Amino acid sequence: MSDKLKRMKTILAEVTDLSRAAAVLEWDQETYMPPGGVAARSDQLSTLLRLSHVRFTSDEVGRLLSELEEETAGLPYDSYEASVVRVTRRDYDQEHKLSPELITEVARASSTARPVWLKARREGDFKLFAPALEKNVELNRRIADALGYKDRPYDALLDRSEPGMTTDELEAIFAELKKAIVPLIADIARHADAVDDRVLYRGFEPAVQVRYALDVVSKLGYDLERGRQDISAHPFSTSFGPGDVRITTRVSRDFFNECLFGSIHESGHAMYNQGMGDDIDRTPLWGGASPGVHESQSRLWENLVGRSLPFWKHFFPSLRSAFPEPLRGVDDEGFFRAVNRSYPSLIRVEADEVTYNMHVLLRFELETELLEGTLKVSDLPEAWNERVKSYLGINVPNDREGVLQDIHWSSVSFGIFPGYTIGNLVGAQLMEKVRADIPDLEAGFERGEFVALLAWLRKNVHRHGRKFTPNELLERATGRPLTAAPWIAYVRRKYGALYGIKPARI
Ligand code: ZN
Repeated sequence: MSDKLKRMKTILAEVTDLSRAAAVLEWDQETYMPPGGVAARSDQLSTLLRLSHVRFTSDEVGRLLSELEEETAGLPYDSYEASVVRVTRRDYDQEHKLSPELITEVARASSTARPVWLKARREGDFKLFAPALEKNVELNRRIADALGYKDRPYDALLDRSEPGMTTDELEAIFAELKKAIVPLIADIARHADAVDDRVLYRGFEPAVQVRYALDVVSKLGYDLERGRQDISAHPFSTSFGPGDVRITTRVSRDFFNECLFGSIHESGHAMYNQGMGDDIDRTPLWGGASPGVHESQSRLWENLVGRSLPFWKHFFPSLRSAFPEPLRGVDDEGFFRAVNRSYPSLIRVEADEVTYNMHVLLRFELETELLEGTLKVSDLPEAWNERVKSYLGINVPNDREGVLQDIHWSSVSFGIFPGYTIGNLVGAQLMEKVRADIPDLEAGFERGEFVALLAWLRKNVHRHGRKFTPNELLERATGRPLTAAPWIAYVRRKYGALYGIKPARI
């Protein structure tokens, strides 16, 4: 390794340490910090994040990058040296393209809009929020202009979260999804009686749920030597380094799905981080390829594994021993059916596997239209309600359960939503390849063996960290770029069987 690379790695390691120290403080804030700690904590966090930003965007890093680009020009694309230089350059340029004035304005607009959004949502009155949203749309546009784009402003925002992906590409994928899923949702609604999920509401002792969930995720492969589980209002996972990757969960006595599936979801994120190579630690290569790819790991474990029949064939007997009363008279297949009930609903975060992507799709469409000026903020609630009706077949009774439900638009954050759907699609695309490579995969699940799946993900996804863009990673792992086909085939197969929908219709 050259002296220049050594020097850059020293700086990058310090930057990583500062942001990981900030992550410890954030974890504490969400789990154990008393309410009185808020003010001091926000000072500490902003100090750490400012120091990390200043260190990373320094002239020295810029100079080292230019020199190292020459030095590594002849190396293979996927070599460690070339990758560290390429990905650091991408991050460095992104941070430099936004002026300090614009960053300050964005932060101010977000903190001003948040309480306005809360009040508007409480009162179900979109008009209160409209001026703040106008401002946020304008700032999204200015960020897109500052970052630069070839065809469409949304490309710039999308590229920031999902590197290499374009609006046109995503539109084509979403159009395919819409064509396949809207009729499936209508078919499921006609066969709604086929699945009964009342067992999930029979009352499950919270402390036992939390213990059971931790036991399940450790059996899936979440390493407790390098992790732990705590309780928080909104479940999340966070990493302070390869040796300490934590999850949180929440628990409700009256609804079973929240705790177990929340824990499995977060452990999917955490196993991704636990699987990153030690060689890329304390560099910008350490982390998920994108929010969408990160979400693919959580969704894969939560839905494709945790909501599968082989999974429940294995786990149901121990679940019944943990909860003999509420599970009286229920068998593994009945429980598998219950946790997979699908029905159109108003709130995205409560949506099931089939309907979820429609919630994301309509937000993506509305964001691109707002950004490109073909939709006015004042017309947004009407556009929202029309789309919910046409994709999900339900009426929106008020803005609180409609256009005002998500926190996202109260800050300047266009381009984030598509990651949720990309995660579902990537998960299914990877799983299709895993099944081809490991033919007895599901027989293994029935025996409680998940190590083959985890080993495949480690080798093909986890260890690379951010070395490749989402599409590069998918092409290497599955032989093709992002496609909706495997996910569509999966939900048609699974929900066709669950709801007894005739193959001719699906
Ligand atoms: Zn997630």
